Amino acid sequence: MTELAKAYDAKKYEDEIYKKWEELGFFKPEIDPSKKPFTISMPPPNATGTLHLGHATMLAIEDILIRYKRMAGFCALWLPGTDHAAIATQNKVEGILQKEGKTRHDLGRDKFLEKVKEYVANSQDTIRNQVRKMGSSCDWSREAYTFSDQLSFAVNTVFKRMYQDGLIYRGHRIVNWCPRCQSTLADDEVTYKETKSRFYYIKYGPVIIGTARPETKFADKVVIVHPDDKRYKKYVGKEMEIDWIDGKIKAKFVADEVADMEMGTGAMTITPAHSFVDFELAQKYGFEIIPIIGMDGKMLDVAGEFAGMDVKTCREKLVKKMQGQGLIDKIDEDYVHNLSICYRCGTSIEPLTSDQWFIDVNKKFPREKWEKKDNNLLKDLEGTIANHVVRSGQIKIVPNSFDKTYFHWMDNLRDWCISRQIWWGHRIPVYYCKDCGHIMVELDKITVCEKCSSVNLRQDEDTLDTWFSSALWTFSTLGWPNETEDLKYFHPTQVMETGYDILFFWVARMIIMSTYTLGEIPFETVYLHGLVRDKEGRKMSKSLGNGIDPLDMIAKFGADPVRLSLVIGTSPGNDMRLYEEKISGYRNFVNKLWNAARFSMMMIENTKENSSDLSLADKWIMTKTQTLIEEVTDFLNDFRLSDAGDKIYDFTWNVFCDWYLEISKVHHNPAILKYVLDVVLKLAHPFSPFVTEAIFQELQFNEENKKMLISEKWPNIQKDLVFEIATKQMETIIDIIKSIRSIRAESKVDPVKKIQAYIYGKDLTSALLAKSEVIKRLANLGELIIAQSGQKIEDSVSKFIGDIEIYLPLSGLVDFKKEFERLKKEAKRLTDYITALQLKLNNNNFVSKAPEHVVEEQRQLLKSAKTELAKVEEQINKS
Ligand SMILES: [Zn+2]
Ligand SMILES: [Zn+2]
Repeated sequence: MTELAKAYDAKKYEDEIYKKWEELGFFKPEIDPSKKPFTISMPPPNATGTLHLGHATMLAIEDILIRYKRMAGFCALWLPGTDHAAIATQNKVEGILQKEGKTRHDLGRDKFLEKVKEYVANSQDTIRNQVRKMGSSCDWSREAYTFSDQLSFAVNTVFKRMYQDGLIYRGHRIVNWCPRCQSTLADDEVTYKETKSRFYYIKYGPVIIGTARPETKFADKVVIVHPDDKRYKKYVGKEMEIDWIDGKIKAKFVADEVADMEMGTGAMTITPAHSFVDFELAQKYGFEIIPIIGMDGKMLDVAGEFAGMDVKTCREKLVKKMQGQGLIDKIDEDYVHNLSICYRCGTSIEPLTSDQWFIDVNKKFPREKWEKKDNNLLKDLEGTIANHVVRSGQIKIVPNSFDKTYFHWMDNLRDWCISRQIWWGHRIPVYYCKDCGHIMVELDKITVCEKCSSVNLRQDEDTLDTWFSSALWTFSTLGWPNETEDLKYFHPTQVMETGYDILFFWVARMIIMSTYTLGEIPFETVYLHGLVRDKEGRKMSKSLGNGIDPLDMIAKFGADPVRLSLVIGTSPGNDMRLYEEKISGYRNFVNKLWNAARFSMMMIENTKENSSDLSLADKWIMTKTQTLIEEVTDFLNDFRLSDAGDKIYDFTWNVFCDWYLEISKVHHNPAILKYVLDVVLKLAHPFSPFVTEAIFQELQFNEENKKMLISEKWPNIQKDLVFEIATKQMETIIDIIKSIRSIRAESKVDPVKKIQAYIYGKDLTSALLAKSEVIKRLANLGELIIAQSGQKIEDSVSKFIGDIEIYLPLSGLVDFKKEFERLKKEAKRLTDYITALQLKLNNNNFVSKAPEHVVEEQRQLLKSAKTELAKVEEQINKS
């Protein structure tokens, strides 16, 4: 006889099961034109990273979708990979060099890149194995890497095509510069930190200007005022000599609506080389653009005696000098503003001008392919294609509240600076001939000038923004630019699932690149998950020490509970809370499922004959199972993963275990037990793949050639297994049992004491008679009298369900006088307790300072105490 171990041991099964799935090829779909494809491109973790909760959430959600679709008959491809993560990886290796007292320049470009490659190769396996630990059923045979030869070729191909279409250009423009990383950053790689600093009011000829950064003002020569500002009308269009830092200068007054009359004095000077707004003004009017701060963050020669100083030192010294000159009007000490900082390293950003590569986001590009594919849609094509595909519903964002954010970002897009001054990344495929000046954009490395045959070539030093290559992820990973079978079959992909925090960094860029390059959308649905926070709702961080390592949790509880706790009780787009008790709660669920299987298996094995008669309880559980299949399937199709998981949890625990298995102790039907357990395992498999597969294997007893759950068919509803009348009757019987149980509990009847009950069942009488043994056992009755109708029983507690009457003669068991005293005492205790709770909750100090969940707990206690008191008082009045 087969008997399952008493408790489920995740360690014993997980790695072994995963290995088997992988070796037997279940993760690797074969293209099958008779099937519909279902594709997810896995957001590639950094090649040098380790698994964190964001990855764990992503993996849990995507694996649920993939496993479900695979079982539902789709050709399901989940394509994994890693990202070379340009700046992040370079920073790591530079950090290692720093410990040896070296910089990348000591090694030189080639040696440094070799070192990074070595480092990446060593750490790539770490993240791969961690992805496996989560149970991810992704196709490792198609694994991709943003920096592989094939994907690099795709990058060069897109670059060349965009360059030829005039969408990529080199320009001298203002960019976000991180003096620490020594590189440009895209607009959305800049984060903001609220900071308090000084704000200076400076005399500039006849006006006062305000600034937080006087050190950028050396070369300010233009004052901008609003055309409607009466205060300054007399100066507009004039040029006047004024006293400035290094003596007299000529200043020009210009009227432009960009000036804000309400802000400060309404007059401002402009610093085109170090402000985005000012740069645009300078371009509009053709003003001179003079750099003040260098790429190393130090003052340039234009700062005179301050040249070579860092920004902070210069500011201090300069303000002193200006005070001496009488140029400082006043200083505001508590100026609060948003400081721009580098999202990689936290250094404050210097906007400055330099020669960089840009993608022109306003230039129209040839749309032939798009028009061919989508002729009708083009009629109402408004604005950019990237906007159009979302607006027209070709791409659906879940939750749709993010549509607005997406459109807002797209509408305000500025040219995307794609060049970075770091070494680790795709080198810009542009070559300059030093002899004839010819510029070439090439897919493969070249050594000879195509125009003058000179070998005196230089490749552009810069590398591409890391998001440029990951923006091609959905199609470069399928073989593009080659017209591969994979690309034809699996693209566009179905779901892009990722954190809402990279909607712009990544999701939007994939939409731009796929619509441009392929003329088709990259994916049909964008599913955005939230951030994982701690029990109090705080962000997890090293400094708070409240972080949870998913790998520790897997080691402690198993992968299934970690997956369940990341999905159930969460909703797309919203942050979630995670804490150890939550995970251990789902470990209990996993054990419950295991024990239910263990118990069922014993009963299935012990019963040799199969009865074809279905009892009321059998019909009821079959019907409930059909409802479960329908609800879970619908929820999964609607991306309501938490609701689907909740239903499975609730059914397993509160319907199958608490009722059907209990009823089975009185009378059981092995075929039905097996059927229900089978459905539960299949529906629960995407959520908790390991324990369900382990049970499924055991459930095949000693059969040879055991099947695997991962490739089983998703259950369909069987209409002939729905029994409406029987289900209604069984639910009433369950209500009767529940009522007797609650009366017993309220009257404090010893739980092991068997009592007597009368039930007058009216129309339900024959059903009740059939289930009398079940009722006796589950309500713990010594004697059960069932009749169609009868006399009211004296000295008993009564309960009515519809027209059904229940009487429990408790006179022998409950001393009604003593019971009356006890009830009085209980009422007093509850009243005092309620008063204390109310006092606490009326105390503003407590309510405003205690964590929200503590306050909520107290409110719940108050609510249940009040309900209890009402019940006690009702009983007192009855006695
Ligand atoms: Zn930085
Ligand atoms: Zn040449």
